[in-house]
Amino acid sequence: MRFGLCSLAFLAAIAAGEEPFAFEKTPGKLPKDIVPKDYAIRIEPKIESASFRGRESIDLEARKPVRQFVLNSRGLEIANARIDGHPLIPQFDEAKQTLTFALADELPAGAHRLELDFSGKLGEQTFGLFIARYQDGAQQKRALATQMEATDARRMFPCWDEPAFRATFELTAVVPAAHTAVSNVPAAAETALADGLKEVRFEKTPPMASYLVAFFAGELDAIEDEVDGVKLRVLTTPGKRDEARYALEATKKILPFYNEYFGTKYPLPKLDQLALPSTGAGGMENWGAILYNDSAFLYDPNASSQSTKERVFAVVAHEIAHQWFGNLVTMAWWDNLWLNEGFASWMGTKATDRFNPEWQTWLRASGDKEWAMSLDARGTTHAIQQRVATDDAATDAFDEITYSKGQAFIRMLESYLGEQPFRDGIRAYVQRHALSNTTTADLWKALENVSGKPVRALAAGWTEQPGFPVVKLSESAGDGATRVEIAQERFTLNQKKAEPLFWAIPIALGPAAAPLDARVILLKETTRMPIEPGLALKANIGGVGYYRVWYDDALFKRLRKAVPLMAAADRLDLFNDSWAMAEAGRAPGARCLDLIDLLRDDTTYAIADRIIGTLWFIHDLERGEPGEVAFHAWARALVQAPMARLGWDAKPGEKELDASWRSSVIELLGTFGDAAVRAEAQRRFRAFVEKGEPIPGNLRRTIFGLVGRDADAETWEKLHELSRAESSSEQKRILNRALASAQSRELASRTLALSLTDELLPEDATHLVRAVGVAGEQPALAVEFALAHLDALLAKLSALEANSYVPSLFRPFTDASRADELEAIARTKLSPAAAHQVAKTADEIRFKAALKKRLMPDIDDWCRSQNSKSQKPGSKQSERKE
Ligand SMILES: [Zn+2]
Repeated sequence: MRFGLCSLAFLAAIAAGEEPFAFEKTPGKLPKDIVPKDYAIRIEPKIESASFRGRESIDLEARKPVRQFVLNSRGLEIANARIDGHPLIPQFDEAKQTLTFALADELPAGAHRLELDFSGKLGEQTFGLFIARYQDGAQQKRALATQMEATDARRMFPCWDEPAFRATFELTAVVPAAHTAVSNVPAAAETALADGLKEVRFEKTPPMASYLVAFFAGELDAIEDEVDGVKLRVLTTPGKRDEARYALEATKKILPFYNEYFGTKYPLPKLDQLALPSTGAGGMENWGAILYNDSAFLYDPNASSQSTKERVFAVVAHEIAHQWFGNLVTMAWWDNLWLNEGFASWMGTKATDRFNPEWQTWLRASGDKEWAMSLDARGTTHAIQQRVATDDAATDAFDEITYSKGQAFIRMLESYLGEQPFRDGIRAYVQRHALSNTTTADLWKALENVSGKPVRALAAGWTEQPGFPVVKLSESAGDGATRVEIAQERFTLNQKKAEPLFWAIPIALGPAAAPLDARVILLKETTRMPIEPGLALKANIGGVGYYRVWYDDALFKRLRKAVPLMAAADRLDLFNDSWAMAEAGRAPGARCLDLIDLLRDDTTYAIADRIIGTLWFIHDLERGEPGEVAFHAWARALVQAPMARLGWDAKPGEKELDASWRSSVIELLGTFGDAAVRAEAQRRFRAFVEKGEPIPGNLRRTIFGLVGRDADAETWEKLHELSRAESSSEQKRILNRALASAQSRELASRTLALSLTDELLPEDATHLVRAVGVAGEQPALAVEFALAHLDALLAKLSALEANSYVPSLFRPFTDASRADELEAIARTKLSPAAAHQVAKTADEIRFKAALKKRLMPDIDDWCRSQNSKSQKPGSKQSERKE
């Protein structure tokens, strides 16, 4: 291909408002005139009485004379408070979660010591210091764990609980002698005490943010190892140790890779990774003592699925990346959470892809990117760097924009700067800011210095503005030459009056069939360039860009023809754009459906996976609609070829991804009404129950799910019995999802009732209600139940889900009246802090309602015509040969 680059637009800086990190200017609630330097904390938990006592001594530095000082505390009682030995009177502000000490005399600048005796309660809700229940054989046992991020360290000990207040921590804990106690750094001493207790004193941590403090104690099994001079340990509840071997092996690959990549060695002497069934997140990156949910850490080669294996690797890679990005270098304030999460997501995906090339990790990450883009194209989105006014609002920042748009933008930037310059910039950044805090501006500066490119000006549009662009390609001919015009505008899905925004877009542009010939241009203004007549020109070659591409009819027709010659990433990208154009009303739905048909026998799992995901989305829109039957028939016909190839049973030597492909095809067929598939699922379930014939790990979710869907009372009881007897979190969740899938209203109600019992861990209980809406497709029943038992359910939630839980129950709805209902409920029953999540969900429901109205007729026509064509023998084949 030949084309001249007409306008390589270099940019005047787009308003780049943010400054590099400066402690004084960092947002937050706490005054900065007095700061903690070192905490010595002694904690005495009492599981039996669900309480704890603590004592701490905090070395402070008054940066100027002060008359009062303020720190965070939540739900704690203070028995004694002294500054430099003088008693103090605490004043609590429960709403602000602060503790203020007014001083009789001015405290001079310099070093001081604050001493506090305090006490608090222990519960099962997964924040602060909490009780983590687990199964040990037939016995229920309890361990202790912490989840501090974002703002819950203050529930365990009074502290300056904002990330810019770095300090060292020396923790001492009194625990039962039989417990293993774990914290960020190694134990320095253990002393036996009376009454079967011991005192464990840990070494001093490096200066770090309070949200990274960790403490665990329980009867734990461990495996020890070592890599690159770092002592490794994986810890589990009793009997689960061997299931942590896979994560340990993954760690031994990942840690040395990061040591090399970051150019700074992992800074602690040890890395403990602990798995419990009850946690506040899939993984929490506590420095040197990462906590995982069992379901994201344990892998049993005999019973786990391929997707669990992938999840374990990916989550471990993500959390270990935080040991540098987040822990060694920490975002100054929650408005820059993306520096932690976007980067760790990108780095984790990069490491997962590197060590498991057969998993198509980056291709499949396009699913996350698509989801983030669909949220980012609506009125309720926000910029990657968003204002977080108070620490209470910090949990809202843990969303798809922060994680997935953050990851996608970093990937695009890496691709633009080049892998080596980007890595060198990261090395310089980590070295320069180690043991300190940063803003995004610090990262851009480091990358700019190394690459010599205007990173800050380019990046500002992507991280400081909401949304993203659509690049529009139109061809024209004249003066004996063919040209393509490349323009941009903001891409939206349902915003009537979106603010027009512009971006500096690095666009890889080239012949669809020869991706290596692609050139990168940085598009700011509309530009025209000559192209070879008849060229199938594709933009976003490699699918690395975070933008949409719209092609005029002539270009699209040529691209469609070139599909068989394209690389998988480009086929996938073309499909993703076509679906998004249909959603946005920028192209007819038939264009995308035709592409689905063209790609029906594609041999790349990542593509099949995206198509199947799209079919599920349409399935939700079609629920109860007149076109549902025809749509299901068309969708079933689409997956006949992969079903015939994969069959029910794994083939010797088959690719790992075939296992996931098989289960997703069977699940789709069964749910979309294939009677033979449902019967086979029943047969295998009965053989499992009656004759003990095993169900392979990769088919468990699918078979139990389909059986649960069709369950009668007896089957439901059997599934429930299996769930109760199950000690694996992964398997228990599969069985609980099967219980939630019951289509019988009566059985689904019995499932819902389980969420109020103590049979399930708090998180599993609340998820069960959601599963009745999603897997069971009975959102109305789930919402009705949740509203009737709201307080009991809210009392089981993790901090991260507190605001999003009720809205999440409404997400499966596609009728606008449900958006009104959610808003009405929010006004009377939900905390004002849930407002953003409510608005986001209501907007999503209204969008789906409008989409249903607009797109369904196209889809229904398409399915009916395809179904009738496929009934005429031979016609399908001849059509598909072009
Ligand atoms: Zn993370």
